[in-house]
Amino acid sequence: MRHVRLPGGDKVPVLGLGTWGMGEARSRGPDMVAALALGIDLGMTLVDTAEMYGEGGAEELVGKAVAGRRDRVFIVSKVYPHNASRKGAVAACERSLKRLGTDRIDLYLLHWRGELPLAETLEAFRALRHSGKIRHYGVSNFDLGDMEEWWKLAGGDVTAANQVLYNLGRRGIEWELLPWLRRRGVALMAYSPIEQGKLLRKHALRAVAKRLNATPAQVALAWLLRREGVIAIPKAARAEHVRENRGALDLALSPEDLAELDAAFPPPAHAEPLAML
Ligand code: NAP
Repeated sequence: MRHVRLPGGDKVPVLGLGTWGMGEARSRGPDMVAALALGIDLGMTLVDTAEMYGEGGAEELVGKAVAGRRDRVFIVSKVYPHNASRKGAVAACERSLKRLGTDRIDLYLLHWRGELPLAETLEAFRALRHSGKIRHYGVSNFDLGDMEEWWKLAGGDVTAANQVLYNLGRRGIEWELLPWLRRRGVALMAYSPIEQGKLLRKHALRAVAKRLNATPAQVALAWLLRREGVIAIPKAARAEHVRENRGALDLALSPEDLAELDAAFPPPAHAEPLAML
């Protein structure tokens, strides 16, 4: 497994596991726990969740999947913007910890920017870090302007990650945001790395995959993972998808493959507002 080094020195795997949509139907819980456990066993030891997913149901499943091997897993969770006040974020984090069955969250993110002042959220994140309830903090769905504003606040410049929509078909961040984060050593977590499956139907992606004897998902993930400082967090509830996604780490894309992908999915030619799902 390759790793990304976070500010502060921790190493996290470049390929993790998403959980959006998990924890909504109780009957499917055991399958989802098994898929997460398989991913962890295969080395995808970064698990991304949020209080929003299944209204806490996904965090409960993550808690079950990491039981007995908590120390091997890097847990990322997110606070709703409306909970991200000085007191609200602390209370939300404590509820998440209970559902996760753990005493600390490795990386705690503001899910997106809401109405509450960013300085209050940062104050809460710093207090949570000081008390050991979270180990790192960061943001999600922050475009360059939000990022610059956050960075200037007390504690903003030790932000570990920004989690945003990034995949072959959503390359807008390459213009400004991605280089800005790289210069500051902030990790970029790419969410919806296969655009919730929609990317896999694209002809050009399928053609490259066929030539490489790989699958479209593996090519889409390998394309993301080749970039320094980028972590991809595909969500897969099916064991065969988990195994397939792990295989992306063994796939090397040649300059010719990359040129073909660039032609079909061009990089941005100008600044674009950050896209969100
Ligand atoms: P995604 O990972 O791009 O796609 C997930 C979908 O693709 C699922 O339907 C999954 O099916 C399918 N899939 C996975 N691997 C596959 C493969 N090898 N072949 C074919 N299909 C495959 O979409 P996402 O869930 O939106 O994004 C990933 C994670 O990012 C989320 O789960 C969440 O943790 C995070 N996220 C964060 C934000 C944010 O605002 N911060 C927003 C969106 C997502 P099965 O489940 O049936 O295996």
